[in-house]
Amino acid sequence: MASIKLQIDKKPMDFAVSRAPIWCPGCGDYGILEGLRRALAKFGAKNEEVVIVSGIGCSSQLPHFMKTYGIHGIHGRVLPIATGVKIANPRLKVIGVGGDGDGYGIGLNHLIHAARRNVGVVYIVSNNQVYGLTTGQMSPTTLKGVKTKTSPYGSIDFPVNPLALALSAGATFVARGFSGDVAHLAEIIEAALQHRGFALIDVLSPCVTFNRVNTYDWFRARIYKLEAVGHDPTDYEQAYKRALEWPTMDPQGKVPIGIFFRREDLPAYEEEAVKLLGGTPPIDAPLELSEDKR
Ligand code: SF4
Repeated sequence: MASIKLQIDKKPMDFAVSRAPIWCPGCGDYGILEGLRRALAKFGAKNEEVVIVSGIGCSSQLPHFMKTYGIHGIHGRVLPIATGVKIANPRLKVIGVGGDGDGYGIGLNHLIHAARRNVGVVYIVSNNQVYGLTTGQMSPTTLKGVKTKTSPYGSIDFPVNPLALALSAGATFVARGFSGDVAHLAEIIEAALQHRGFALIDVLSPCVTFNRVNTYDWFRARIYKLEAVGHDPTDYEQAYKRALEWPTMDPQGKVPIGIFFRREDLPAYEEEAVKLLGGTPPIDAPLELSEDKR
């Protein structure tokens, strides 16, 4: 499907508001905020055609710092709300934002269903492997052995692997970024904005206050870029193998970032929904329903 440029000559600061973020100095969420602004500017998005939906957590405050429409929703329900917005008006660019506790804990089942439906939402998960807002409890992505307030002897849980899970569920765009590399992250987000259907971007985003293990230095020692090793994002099996590269079993294991998987030949959920109602394809054209469906 042809990509759509909605408007040109935008700058990242066109998406900023006067209110400054209230995150701890050094929080990875600053990198995500800047990456998103850069990506929207490069994409040429119109402010009034962007809706950012968030859940509950430190990162979920992000819509307050963006000059777009926004919904600061309820815990774990980013994707049902975002899905509703997208179906109600498929011309909007709908972006979901939340943390790993929000999206991979209480909201995990919604990730599976959004992926299998291929709903046209870009879902950015700020993955800091801890519950930050509630001051440092273990989360679904806390690595085995890591000590937190609720795992004082070290976590004995095997962590959720969000990329492998999304691939298994049928997601058509699966990527991982790092908030310590904003330029690279912005490229990934812009590619996701161009994508037809559901896009998951897991962002390694250090919580500098409550996670003293998975720090910027910890990630920098392990990260490599998929594009640097000739990864083919159209190859599902290769993507799945790369998704399994994560230091769960091997603490010294490497961590790939970039676009793991992408396929553009499947219809988005909202396209199917509008067709069902006798309407016109929703992405490029105004949403018009037939007389009897109005
Ligand atoms: Fe960021 Fe952690 Fe501070 Fe929350 S507690 S704002 S996640 S550094």
